[in-house]
Amino acid sequence: MSLIVQKFGGSSVADTERLFNVADIVTSTYAAGNDVVVVVSAQGDTTDDLIEKAKEINPNPSKREMDVLLANGEQISISLLAMAIEKLGYPVISLTGWQAGIHTGMNYGAARIKKIETERLKLEISKRRIIIVAGFQGINKFEDITTLGRGGSDTTAVALAAALGADLCQIYTDVDGVYTADPRKIPTARKLDEITYDEMLELASLGAQVLHNRSVEMGKRFNVDMEVISSFTRNPGTKIKEAHKVEKMNVSGVARDMDIAQISLVNMADAPGIAYKVFSTLANKGVNVDIILQSTGRNDAKDIAFTVPSASLELAKKVLEDNKENIGFESISVREDLCKLSIVGAGMVNNPGVAAMMFEALSAANVNIDMISTSEIKVSVLIKKEESERAMRAVHDKFF
Ligand code: ADP
Ligand code: ASP
Ligand code: MG
Repeated sequence: MSLIVQKFGGSSVADTERLFNVADIVTSTYAAGNDVVVVVSAQGDTTDDLIEKAKEINPNPSKREMDVLLANGEQISISLLAMAIEKLGYPVISLTGWQAGIHTGMNYGAARIKKIETERLKLEISKRRIIIVAGFQGINKFEDITTLGRGGSDTTAVALAAALGADLCQIYTDVDGVYTADPRKIPTARKLDEITYDEMLELASLGAQVLHNRSVEMGKRFNVDMEVISSFTRNPGTKIKEAHKVEKMNVSGVARDMDIAQISLVNMADAPGIAYKVFSTLANKGVNVDIILQSTGRNDAKDIAFTVPSASLELAKKVLEDNKENIGFESISVREDLCKLSIVGAGMVNNPGVAAMMFEALSAANVNIDMISTSEIKVSVLIKKEESERAMRAVHDKFF
């Protein structure tokens, strides 16, 4: 007998018919003799609708109250799915995040899971009940409800799988698995049978929303067997594995992140310690910085440009303006018309030509590159948003 964690995303539980489809998957797994812990997201567009509703009331609500609101979406799903499973005649119980023992840090809206107290879960499993847990939510040390950030139900599932020592964590969604690019944008994208944790982590962090990046980080750290699979077709999905168990591809995927902004600091002193001042100031306020470019100096001055998530732009600008004297720059300029296009592949580390192939594809498509950044297993470029559809297709065609 195995313990299996199954997570179902918003479209998989969107309406009554979909809920009974999920109930069927869950109860067949249970009837085959397995213990099953299920994690569900809010139905369909519920989370977006709740965010809209909040904005009607107050365009700037506190993060704490937002979490109280957003956690409701998942609580509707757990109760409805439990009722569907009851109707099929199986023993089942729904649990909110806190009932399931999920403790998080303080950061409302983007909380990290700190520990999971598994007593209640283990008790229910020992009674041979199917457990349905609300994804995306936990509780902090003030016993306040927190949420884990958009897409966070994936992380709830992997964290539960790790805490319970589950044999498998299946992430059911609305596509057949992880593809070489978003199959809704690139119809010629191919499904991957397997992918390494590191590649999946890069793809998720670089804009492929099929998995929450923290879920992959956690899967890697606790060695959770993960699978992305469709609740619609039930075809074989994509397995996520350790690097030595996967045949390495030069490029296994293309991802695009539209939610970034570029900040340039103009005319900074060309002196030691300047970069340290800029980036430590931002880091202290929790602003994540990505691609950094420092231009060669002219007249003892230089520029530094870098990217931040769009959601952090206002904060970053404010932090920099507040520290203008201390850091010492003339002005800030911001571009929001750029996005990040990336290729990821564990095999590129031994193949120096891979980046050149990407640049060749972009050149042939007449797409201008604003910034470039590379690591062992990825190449990212900043390009214009309006050219990114064409660029993504050109790059994908080049490799696949
Ligand atoms: P869920 O609600 O099940 O969590 P998401 O919408 O969060 O589903 O993630 C699934 C979506 O991710 C797919 O519908 C697809 O459009 C998108 N996606 C982006 N990149 C990829 C990729 N490389 N492979 C598969 N799906 C991708
Ligand atoms: N319901 C949340 C969201 O829409 C969490 C999730 O679906 O994973 O982001
Ligand atoms: Mg998701």
